[in-house]
Amino acid sequence: MGKIILEGKVIPYFTVGNGEFGKTVRAGDKIVCPNCGETHVLHGGKNSEGEDTEVLLVYSCGKRTLLAAVDNRLVDRFGVRKLEA
Ligand SMILES: [Zn+2]
Repeated sequence: MGKIILEGKVIPYFTVGNGEFGKTVRAGDKIVCPNCGETHVLHGGKNSEGEDTEVLLVYSCGKRTLLAAVDNRLVDRFGVRKLEA
């Protein structure tokens, strides 16, 4: 995570390099959670048109929602492992 200041507001951001992408995943895929060791399901979101999108894939661990993948690729740094069927 980093921070930039734009027009007086502090805006957090993170970057992902090409070399950090792991396996391809889709919404509905199961992953092994790096926090609790249990299995969770990946979920996508909606775009501004209200259509399903998998640009960001997240999972829920307890009350937390955590990012696992960007553009259908796991981000190695997040420690999420795809559960192979
Ligand atoms: Zn978990």
